[in-house]
Amino acid sequence: MQNFDFTKLEAKAAEILGRYEEKRAATLPLLWLVQETFGHIPPEGEAWVGQKVDKSIAHVREVVSFYTLYHTQPIGKQHIQVCVSTPCMLRGAKKVIAQLEEKLGIGVGQTTRDGKITLSTVECLCACESAPMAQVNDDYTGILDAAAIDSLVKQATQSPEKPVQLPEPTAYIATDGPVISQRFKNVNGTWFDAYVADGGYQGAKKALGMQPQQIIDEVIKSNLRGLGGAGFPTGKKWSFIPKDNPKPKYLVVNADEGEPGTFKDRYILERDPHALIEGMIIAAFAIGSHKAYIYIRGEYVRSIERTNKAVAEAYAKGWLGKNIQGSGFDLDIVVHRGAGAYICGEETALLSSLEGSKGFPKLKPPFPAISGLFKSPTIVNNVETLASVSHILRNGAEWYAKIGTAKQGGTRLFSVSGHVVRPGVYEAPVSVTLRDLIYKYGQGIPGGKKLKAVVPGGISAKILRADEIDVAMDFDSLMAVGTMAGSGGVIVMDETTCMVDALKAASHFFADESCGQCSPCREGSGWLFKMVSRVSRGQGKTDDIPNMLTTAAAMEGKTICVFADAAAWPVQSYINKFRSEFDHHIATGKCDIAQTTAKVSV
Ligand code: SF4
Repeated sequence: MQNFDFTKLEAKAAEILGRYEEKRAATLPLLWLVQETFGHIPPEGEAWVGQKVDKSIAHVREVVSFYTLYHTQPIGKQHIQVCVSTPCMLRGAKKVIAQLEEKLGIGVGQTTRDGKITLSTVECLCACESAPMAQVNDDYTGILDAAAIDSLVKQATQSPEKPVQLPEPTAYIATDGPVISQRFKNVNGTWFDAYVADGGYQGAKKALGMQPQQIIDEVIKSNLRGLGGAGFPTGKKWSFIPKDNPKPKYLVVNADEGEPGTFKDRYILERDPHALIEGMIIAAFAIGSHKAYIYIRGEYVRSIERTNKAVAEAYAKGWLGKNIQGSGFDLDIVVHRGAGAYICGEETALLSSLEGSKGFPKLKPPFPAISGLFKSPTIVNNVETLASVSHILRNGAEWYAKIGTAKQGGTRLFSVSGHVVRPGVYEAPVSVTLRDLIYKYGQGIPGGKKLKAVVPGGISAKILRADEIDVAMDFDSLMAVGTMAGSGGVIVMDETTCMVDALKAASHFFADESCGQCSPCREGSGWLFKMVSRVSRGQGKTDDIPNMLTTAAAMEGKTICVFADAAAWPVQSYINKFRSEFDHHIATGKCDIAQTTAKVSV
């Protein structure tokens, strides 16, 4: 019987509680503390956390059950989690799972008899450039070819007490774009001195000498738009913060990168975190905020460590804390770890989670700018958006606006994955075409195969056919062709891809990640997955396609947040653009692709 001694956690718990204005916000970090200490969260741990944050054990248990990274039972010392989202499936995740099952002698969801190794599958870990990949405890590993799987299994079975020595994910392709990514290549350039030597903190210095409204006007002039996916003009968003509200104002960074096919914010957090911190100082000063949070997805352990280190450096150098650089402006930053829930990337869900609850989205209005974190005015901005602000203040709004299109300034980090020769993160002006991202940056389709389809903005975006790729990647151009720029995640599919299976992988993701509050979303996403799975198995019924389209239509625009719409769009677009393939599966019970090509099954 394990003995749980919580007295040794008291000092750390007091330090964690001290970071937050309201005790309840310490719920997730305290649960992490319990899990990291005891290996899982026992009922005694839930009770201890509840007592610390003044919440019932029922509330804490509900929170624990919502997030995938919390465990209420012990798991193996080595926890191997294989990503099964679309980009990994396109590059062989099924095979990886089969090989691991065979070599470990266990199935997915099981632990070896000696209790040492647990095998699981997970939805997108946002490292699609290393697909097929997995997370082993806190570390990412990929590309998982036969040799890498052998090495992983050997180490995990022979020395289960030791951390597995994993190769650095092989496709960390450094970029040299004109704005955000110029410093990615210099792996020694991540930290404060190197950042300052490269002109860092000049934008914040300038901003602290300006009036807040001047900064907002400058950002409006730059045409910077929200690069998390929504594309809303950033300066305009900041201007919504009420000036006469006596409550504290908050700045919250959405670093809960989770959209399948997207892995660009991770590069900023790991390779240039001071660019984010500088952007946060500018934004906080502009909106009158003295407290900011960086909410980072729980799986990004390395990003969390590196961002924490940069925050500590900024405090030590007088760029955070009281009276920043003698300006009279105070700002504190807290790095907050999520716990595994895609929906927390939606801004109101993220705020619910930050407040210590399940990541449930809330109805808007009121928008967070009026009533957000702790019911106070709050701006939620994406990592890349804020990192861009540093460059805008340093080089001027006109410089930034000129790089982009008439309605969207600057560049974007595009994540390119799937069937391309060189998957990676590429920075380009937003006017870059989808064709160039695939053929110039990604260097085309491997093996001389033909392009079949491409998702241009993360898995939620409507799919495009090969003849639709001569389109610019800014928000307006992609909307004009019936899809969206979203998170900038480009997922490429070659001619061997079965579109029924591709839709099945996307639908599995949405069925898995619905928060369950709204019936059309909870039930609809589950039914869509069931129906497309049936078609994929060769057991489709003649009314499956009309039923899928009716279900998708019943989900659109009828729920608390746009997740349900995002789950409907792939169904509508895959069927609309590749209808004959779906019809063929139902009519013959077979996959046509399998008969004509060396099929890549997803
Ligand atoms: Fe939750 Fe889906 Fe409703 Fe969004 S639409 S609140 S994810 S159930």
